[in-house]
Amino acid sequence: MTTEEKIAAGLSLPVMEAFYTIQGEGRFTGHPAYFIRLGGCDVGCVWCDVKESWEAGKWPVLSIEEIVAEAEKHPAKLVVITGGEPLMYDMGPLTRMLKQKGFTTNIETSGAHPFSGDFDWVCFSPKKFKAPDESIYQVADELKVVVFHKSDFAFAEKHAEKVSEKCELRLQPEWSKANQFTPEIIKYVKDRPLWKISLQTHKFMDIP
Ligand code: SF4
Repeated sequence: MTTEEKIAAGLSLPVMEAFYTIQGEGRFTGHPAYFIRLGGCDVGCVWCDVKESWEAGKWPVLSIEEIVAEAEKHPAKLVVITGGEPLMYDMGPLTRMLKQKGFTTNIETSGAHPFSGDFDWVCFSPKKFKAPDESIYQVADELKVVVFHKSDFAFAEKHAEKVSEKCELRLQPEWSKANQFTPEIIKYVKDRPLWKISLQTHKFMDIP
């Protein structure tokens, strides 16, 4: 198999970085976790804080065996797969191998590509810059909308109408706009308690 064929099969993946830290956002805030950040994203968010991830070809391609072996070096059995946009790849082989090794598997995705993989927790964070694939709505465990503009409240409600009943709803101020939008989000959530607040607590802790 060529490298391209292995990537297409989800047996090898471009890894921008992988690191052991504390999950700062969403439902698993405060949990120690091993993050695997895959290279490649075609969504193009203007406020993206990992723009260097966009070009997949810049990053080393690792086999899923190598990726899992690195994850196993850390004590916590929680893996968060993020990007970039991880659903650009078939997440099946990597997530199955992680689960065989006893990991809980979480994903952070914009949902802009068809869903794949065996995940215990799917954090769906839709972006205005590329519409989600319909496959994400039924599998999302958490809808996390980043608020960068006033119109993002309506954008959040539009997606909340499409997710399943089990899906938890969160609004998160974009870091550079937090002073402006956090008070509005607080008021919004108090008025509409189906929503919860998510903060980028890792940025307050100054950890990755
Ligand atoms: S989806 Fe994520 S990685 Fe891609 S541009 Fe948006 S914030 Fe950046």
